[in-house]
Amino acid sequence: MRVSVLGSGSSGNCTHITTKSTCILVDLGFGLRSLERRLYQAKLHKAKVDAILLTHGHTDHVSGVLPFLSRHQVPVFMNQGTREEVLELQSIDRWESFGTNSPFSVGDLQVEAFTVSHDAAEPVGFRFSAQGICGTLVTDLGELTAQVMRKLSGCDWLILESNHDEEMLKIGPYPWHVKQRVLSKFGHLSNQKLSAFLTHHFDGQATHIFLAHLSRQNNDPKIALDNASNALSRHFPLFAKSCKLHLTHQGKPSIVLDL
Ligand SMILES: [Zn+2]
Ligand SMILES: [Zn+2]
Repeated sequence: MRVSVLGSGSSGNCTHITTKSTCILVDLGFGLRSLERRLYQAKLHKAKVDAILLTHGHTDHVSGVLPFLSRHQVPVFMNQGTREEVLELQSIDRWESFGTNSPFSVGDLQVEAFTVSHDAAEPVGFRFSAQGICGTLVTDLGELTAQVMRKLSGCDWLILESNHDEEMLKIGPYPWHVKQRVLSKFGHLSNQKLSAFLTHHFDGQATHIFLAHLSRQNNDPKIALDNASNALSRHFPLFAKSCKLHLTHQGKPSIVLDL
């Protein structure tokens, strides 16, 4: 399985996952030219995309879907809530509905969508497995519930939100009501909440963790990385080095993980 986060953050999200015979995009929050540039940078441009899967209906996750469909005829997998949430998605012909919390497959990729706590109609995270490799992608969530943490166990790779530093957000430029929204359990996961998970609940299985959806205003990649790395060392002082942390970026692709 190959995984690359092509872009991550409030200006556009997209993750590229390929297996032996299937290639999908999870979310698409930027335009065609930007997507093509990133695919080229990551040397993934030769893989033909088979489907797009959507986590929720916020613009930074869906704005590139229709432009992509104007060029490529692929099905879009989304749940009923997300379809109803975004008017423009209702015109899509090739819509494949999935039920939140029931497994489905796309080619040889098994997928499980599970509920996350976020201020969208029916937001989900995804757990993927194929050829004995398993990984979970979860961003845009205000808290890690027990159910979400179960989906994060037994994985080879994880894409986890590390949206903001709580102190930077509090003293930062956002209006008060936006700060309240981001910090709420329907908002975004902070470095501190991610650290608490890594120290107290992470099962230590995943050998690669991507830090995703970093805020440009209220976070700093170095701070996010230090936080996660310190949290891992607290939990697994001897094994922390066997788990690699990877940053994701707003403007360019992450590394391509090949497992
Ligand atoms: Zn988002
Ligand atoms: Zn969102």
